[in-house]
Amino acid sequence: MAEKIFQPLELWFVTGSQHLYGPEALEQVAEDARQVAAALDASDALSVNVVFRPIVTTPDEIRRVCIEANSAENCIGIVAWMHTFSPAKMWIAGLSQLNKPLLQLHTQYGRDIPWGSIDMDFMNLHQTAHGGREFGFMGARLRIAHKVVVGHWQDPETIAEVDVWARAAAAWHDSKHMKIARFGDNMREVAVTEGDKVSAQIQFGYAVNGYGLGDLVPHVNGATEQQIDDLIEEYEHAYTLADPLKAGGDMRFALRDAAAIEIGIRSFLVEGRFKGYTDTFENLHGLKQLPGLPSQRLMADGYGFGGEGDWKTAALVRTMKFMAQGLAGGTSFMEDYTYHFSPDGMKVLGAHMLEICPSIADGKPNVEVHPLGIGGKADPVRLVFDVPAGPGLNATVIDLGDRFRMLVNTVDTVVPDAPLPKLPVARALWIPHPNLKVSAAAWMIAGGAHHTGFSQALTVQHLQDFAEMAGIEFALIDQSTTLYDFKNVLRWNDLYYHSTGLRGW
Ligand code: MN
Repeated sequence: MAEKIFQPLELWFVTGSQHLYGPEALEQVAEDARQVAAALDASDALSVNVVFRPIVTTPDEIRRVCIEANSAENCIGIVAWMHTFSPAKMWIAGLSQLNKPLLQLHTQYGRDIPWGSIDMDFMNLHQTAHGGREFGFMGARLRIAHKVVVGHWQDPETIAEVDVWARAAAAWHDSKHMKIARFGDNMREVAVTEGDKVSAQIQFGYAVNGYGLGDLVPHVNGATEQQIDDLIEEYEHAYTLADPLKAGGDMRFALRDAAAIEIGIRSFLVEGRFKGYTDTFENLHGLKQLPGLPSQRLMADGYGFGGEGDWKTAALVRTMKFMAQGLAGGTSFMEDYTYHFSPDGMKVLGAHMLEICPSIADGKPNVEVHPLGIGGKADPVRLVFDVPAGPGLNATVIDLGDRFRMLVNTVDTVVPDAPLPKLPVARALWIPHPNLKVSAAAWMIAGGAHHTGFSQALTVQHLQDFAEMAGIEFALIDQSTTLYDFKNVLRWNDLYYHSTGLRGW
């Protein structure tokens, strides 16, 4: 068994029962539960450790395990299984205090009904079917938005569903330990990239703080010639350099400047233990060029990034990258840039001024240098590439004043109709679901930002699970979306969030 991706994080496997069945039955329940927990822990398809906890049969035991989970630094959630019937009033004290994600694994020890041998003893030991319902009622009664996964514990599909939630829980844990650095403030007058950083910290746990460029520049200027030489050697191995950037080329200095900026930002982020950052072309005092290549490479290493001061997207990109670790396909900062409105097939060209993550590159990226046209700085170096075809999604988080809304749109990434020889930036082309007309209208009606986290690794469920943990609104635009229904969902959500508010973890 390979080491889990999210080492040292763990899920606690808690099995509920009661004393009604006698000690022999409880021993059997404990033995079965130990086996299920061990199988989940051993599965390569589950990316978080699973720790077996002794079965709980009284309100006190349940309350204690919930409180322990709350305070265990590496415990990111509880997987609860009702092998038998566990009267749910026993769970009120514990679940009322639990502040970590909860998954109800609605499974059964034996997959099939043993037709020839099943008797009442067997039925009493294997009563998940209704034991789980009793537990579910308490989740609903307490308004705990717990996840329910139904299926046999050895079925790969069941384990995959648990893993989706486990990844979201890992990212939720990461979010609560996240610091985002802002170099400079927002792009002036831009609205959607603004927001309430105090509300965000209360809701998501992450802290966003601003730094003057004067704080960053000493790190950039502190890059040694040797460090720059080493990093350029790395560039030469990983990418195809344009002629002017090669050794002896007349723009080689620009590549050295970019390398110094990468070394400087990385040093700043490591020193301050930041997990993401923002910058803005309007505030680059002391930097020779807008960080293009540096931001692209830092994203590839798992840092969140948001352009133009967009800290919500920086945090979202980090969250998406964190939960996607080890999955096929990449995740990047993205922006809907330009449309293809052809009646033969409407598409969106996604890109940014520079900062698209090479984790979504199709093949070896090129390194190029071109003028930027805004910002008044030297020509920035950037990676240029296309993105492979396949399913993907765009996600955004916006601040509506009284709550945060996550909006997700599924897409099909497609290859460009023709080469784009004069486009000097990395780009993705996609057909949004259900089509461009409905997708764009729904996205704007919901107030979705122009910046997104784009992923070819994550599914809708990863993000929906995360949104539930964060207790924020989640709205989906997919193949089944109609504007009529979508508008109604937003109206109902408005009413819901004004009157109550789903309890997140
Ligand atoms: Mn932008």
